[in-house]
Amino acid sequence: LAGASATVPDTRDRLLGGLLSPDFDDRSCLSRYRASLYRQPSLHNLSSHLVSRLRRYESLHRLCGPGTPAYTRAVARLRESMDAHAPPPASSNSTTGSSDTAADECSYIVWTPIEGLGNRILSTASAFLYALLTDRVLLVHHPGDDLNDIFCEPFPGNDSTTWVLPERDFPIQNIRRLNVRTRESLGNVLGRGEGSRDRDPPPPWLYVHLQTDYKPDDRRFFCDDGQDALSGVRWIVLRSDNYFATGLFFLPRYEQELARLFPRRDTVFHHLGRYLFHPTNTVWAMATRYHRSYLAPAEERVGVQVREFKYARISAADRYSQIISCACGESILPAVDDNATTPPSAEPDHPEQTKRKAVLVVSLNGEYYEKLSSMYYEHDAAGGGSVSVFQPTHLGVQHTEERKHNQKALAEVMLLSFSDVVITSAQSTFGYVSHGLAGLRPWVLTLPVDGKVPDPPCRLAPTIEPCYMKAPHYDCRTRGQADNGKMVPYIRQCQDVSYGVQLV
Ligand code: GDP
Repeated sequence: LAGASATVPDTRDRLLGGLLSPDFDDRSCLSRYRASLYRQPSLHNLSSHLVSRLRRYESLHRLCGPGTPAYTRAVARLRESMDAHAPPPASSNSTTGSSDTAADECSYIVWTPIEGLGNRILSTASAFLYALLTDRVLLVHHPGDDLNDIFCEPFPGNDSTTWVLPERDFPIQNIRRLNVRTRESLGNVLGRGEGSRDRDPPPPWLYVHLQTDYKPDDRRFFCDDGQDALSGVRWIVLRSDNYFATGLFFLPRYEQELARLFPRRDTVFHHLGRYLFHPTNTVWAMATRYHRSYLAPAEERVGVQVREFKYARISAADRYSQIISCACGESILPAVDDNATTPPSAEPDHPEQTKRKAVLVVSLNGEYYEKLSSMYYEHDAAGGGSVSVFQPTHLGVQHTEERKHNQKALAEVMLLSFSDVVITSAQSTFGYVSHGLAGLRPWVLTLPVDGKVPDPPCRLAPTIEPCYMKAPHYDCRTRGQADNGKMVPYIRQCQDVSYGVQLV
């Protein structure tokens, strides 16, 4: 790791054991084949079924993605069916005639963004899993500039197609305004009793609302009747701020396929995240420059991600003491001798204690870095090792609408994912993504109790999977409430979010 260079690793590592397609131009997206040089090798087996499903998905995307004749026909057909006043398409010269077998096979899910980068990444990965399960093509809606030059195209064939929805002339207007009240939302369609499987023809499109404010009928997405209502609908637009992939495991119809894709169910995001999210060369350059300059010389890299939420207030001094009691109490970082008069230590007798550790602090706030680096500047580390502390940015406040801000955020997510050990903040999707990509169980800083440092200050997470924070907790049979943490053995309540559930 320390010696990571610009060379492309050998094929097996480069393709992450078959996870990635070899069909990309390496230079257009340097991170794709090089991330493995910086991260610990994955300890999480990849199923051959997932590999073959990804290749099948890639063929589907090449056939149906924007820029292809099939896509043009699918959009034309959508427009025609949406236009209630248009005359029925003439069979002889229609762009969507019944002989269009390719277009007839193409169905889409359009993901549209909400919230910060972590939320976006987790909901995109979930939408992709749904696309895999339902043979839909995943398109991402990038309405502003904030997501430009952040991620590379994840699917090969991007000289002829793309995963970005061409917004111009797309018949479904105002995607940004779709919300829980939208008439075409799955929840509202089901609520009106219009979701029958035998509708002929099915509606041309539906909106799926899986955001934190979703209602009981929206949650029927995770029930058979919700899935029946969506089957045959060519276009789905979906908005979610959550890692709803976990909820797909409640649907009996996907159970077998999911078990084949993920024999170890706690690796879903780890694999899909490393498959989908490759930072562009701009972002990758920031991450690797920083890594080379500050982190590569160390023998161990410790990531510390500090996220402050308004609802979990604690003074900066208390939060800092929480970080220190976690890091030193769990032997992640060496303690220091607080006695300022201690003379400089002699050369240590045991070379193994002299491990050089680099701490990467990632936070909007610069205070923790200041305190931590002063601590190791002013005092000897117990055992004689050396600890250097770094923080790439401290941007103060979140600005998800700004491209540069998001580029820096992603560079830091990447840098965190190069860590050997991570300490993250409870309930942070930014943290979930970093440790999920790394494939590490993080030490999670527990939420403060009554504004004070909790005991214990941190816990080792039971899984590398993100938490589905706003789980549906919906009983499909009784249409009442249910506890999603008690339905199947491999899904449990999250340790850091009592309402959430996660794969273990
Ligand atoms: P969450 O709010 O922790 O769940 O994470 P999100 O990624 O969804 O939203 C937080 C957003 O705030 C990020 O996407 C960044 O834009 C910004 N942000 C939060 N923490 C950091 C940080 O440590 N570094 C940087 N560069 N940005 C951050």
